[in-house]
Amino acid sequence: MVEAHLVDSKSTFSVFSHLLDARILRSLADMGFARPTLVQAKALPIALEGRDILARARTGSGKTAAYCIPIVQKILSAKSSLSASDEGYQVTRAIILVPTRELSEQVTTCLHSLLTYCEKEIIVVNSATGSSTHLQRALLADKPDIVISTPSRALGLLQSKTLNLSSLESFVIDEADLILSYGHDEDVRQIFTGGYLPKVYQSFLMSATMTDDVETLKGLALRSPAILKLEEDED
Ligand code: ADP
Ligand code: MG
Repeated sequence: MVEAHLVDSKSTFSVFSHLLDARILRSLADMGFARPTLVQAKALPIALEGRDILARARTGSGKTAAYCIPIVQKILSAKSSLSASDEGYQVTRAIILVPTRELSEQVTTCLHSLLTYCEKEIIVVNSATGSSTHLQRALLADKPDIVISTPSRALGLLQSKTLNLSSLESFVIDEADLILSYGHDEDVRQIFTGGYLPKVYQSFLMSATMTDDVETLKGLALRSPAILKLEEDED
């Protein structure tokens, strides 16, 4: 394991080469991500151990990749011991909740970049956008590995059984400080309490600020989390 404190601002992603699939490292190089940002350096080793994470770091500090990289790594690892014909190979393993459709596009773009060299292995669906017929087909037929959604869309899809999260491994709430204020409060609660989720999964709560809403979500989503609070001037 890489100790977070050993990863300083001069370390490149190669310090994680024993933790990350070579296809991820290649895509990071293509993306021009030479070095992990501080939140990425701190979150990655902890995330890959399977712990829940609450990360507070300023806007622009690289929080998207801080959760997308470990999620892609976990899925590649899980699939490496299965063959494509195995039951359980193609299931939804990760859901990423975001407050707005605009943000869903940004997260989808980050994921597609990370998946440049493994796009056949990992299917991503942005359910916050697109027509519902198309979406229904994509979700029911493909059982995408990663689903990005707003809470209201996700809840609707769960209620209609279009989305099945019974094999979920990773749950992300991005922009946790904003998501409840967009009127998603009740939807988020119902996603957690409606019996849609398995007993065990890893959660990530990402936020630019610590607010009462983040505390509420922490109680709802996290179990013994590692709490990463990065100061403004650290990164
Ligand atoms: P946040 O969610 O913390 O506001 P983002 O994940 O949106 O930040 O990242 C902000 C910008 O930094 C994006 O343009 C992203 O592509 C870029 N970025 C993220 N990580 C790195 C990195 N390790 N090296 C270079 N650029 C990065
Ligand atoms: Mg962000």
